Amino acid sequence: MDAARVVNSEDMSAVHDLLSTDSRDFLITPSKGQVKVDELEGKTIGLYFSANWYSKCQQFTPILVDVYTQLKEQGDKFEIVFVSSDEDQISFDLFHGTMPWLAVPFSDLQSKKNLTQKFQIEGIPSLIILNSRGRPIQTEGVELIYQYGVQAFPFSSEKIVELEAEELANHASQTIGRLLSTSSRDYVSKQKEQVPISQLVGKTVGLYFSAFLCSPCEKFTSRLVTVYQQLKEKNMDFEIVFISVDRDETGYIQCYQSMPWLALPHGDETAKSLLRYFHVQDIPTLIIVGPDGKTVTREGRNLINLHLEMAYPFTEAQLSWLQERLDEEARNYPKSIHHIRHRHTLNLVSASSGGGPFICCECEEQGSGWAYQCIECGYEIHLKCVQGIGQDNLENRTVNTACACTSGN
Ligand SMILES: [Zn+2]
Ligand SMILES: [Zn+2]
Repeated sequence: MDAARVVNSEDMSAVHDLLSTDSRDFLITPSKGQVKVDELEGKTIGLYFSANWYSKCQQFTPILVDVYTQLKEQGDKFEIVFVSSDEDQISFDLFHGTMPWLAVPFSDLQSKKNLTQKFQIEGIPSLIILNSRGRPIQTEGVELIYQYGVQAFPFSSEKIVELEAEELANHASQTIGRLLSTSSRDYVSKQKEQVPISQLVGKTVGLYFSAFLCSPCEKFTSRLVTVYQQLKEKNMDFEIVFISVDRDETGYIQCYQSMPWLALPHGDETAKSLLRYFHVQDIPTLIIVGPDGKTVTREGRNLINLHLEMAYPFTEAQLSWLQERLDEEARNYPKSIHHIRHRHTLNLVSASSGGGPFICCECEEQGSGWAYQCIECGYEIHLKCVQGIGQDNLENRTVNTACACTSGN
């Protein structure tokens, strides 16, 4: 008992040293109340480095709020401390107002700096987990929350190893039925109708994670609709299921209106568990499940962008055939070109000669492998996007302000 107390007082000072200063022994609540740092003693703590101005933080915060609320309801000893990178007090107040946990006061810039340095925070959002003795045990808290949600608690390495093993087993025994159904629902929606999930067995199925008012989603959806219709015309055994990331039903309805395929009913809990199961962090995401119910690829979006309907059935055999075809075609492309929408010369690159994953400055979609690249400013485009220029769709193109160098005519 005595020994335990000694250890405790030492550990208490670990949390105390980390989160208080000579002039401040408290943290603040969203309603500007104060909570003594020492009250966190014995709890697992998440240090949440985040900022209002960054979309990835805005996206992650509500997910963390859900997990936090559930852990609190279960009575788990868990607390989160927001360490803000907001630009001013007003932004800080607004952002902290969306969080049910504590924060280091915005005015205490020195503590923020010290914590950022101590935990070598290079990007946000970041969630550093301290165990009940105040020792850091996980630096990848954000990923763990995305993957395992509330189950990740208490974030010990034993717990994570256990979850990983469980996840591997789940993926190995995956079927479309297990992915999409619940104990009370064995159908998916087709607008107002119900379609039994059994009808999807033996098909290639795309699980499409998307949301309303997300411009990359809107853009990709229209491309995916074309591909879907082409595959349907060819009678391919292909189906898509929309999995909404929208919180409100209006967003869901608006978004689903533009889609000719199936959907999980709005508000279904399966959507959340699928997000975690497939580690979806960005939308739009298209996961492809094969006729045997196993995951074929998580790169459906990228593959559709590169190959359109030719990507089907997304198997390695199809992709290597497409790659060979692309290599063959690329051999006939000029080594360098002058593209009318860019002021510098562009060079043909492949994965083995300086090309890598990129965002196309013309269509703003992902690409990898063959591309035309500007050595001077990093401008990079798909081969197919060069072909399109000056032809039918030039008037529809917008200049991408994200590129280092704006296009010159
Ligand atoms: Zn492109
Ligand atoms: Zn350039």
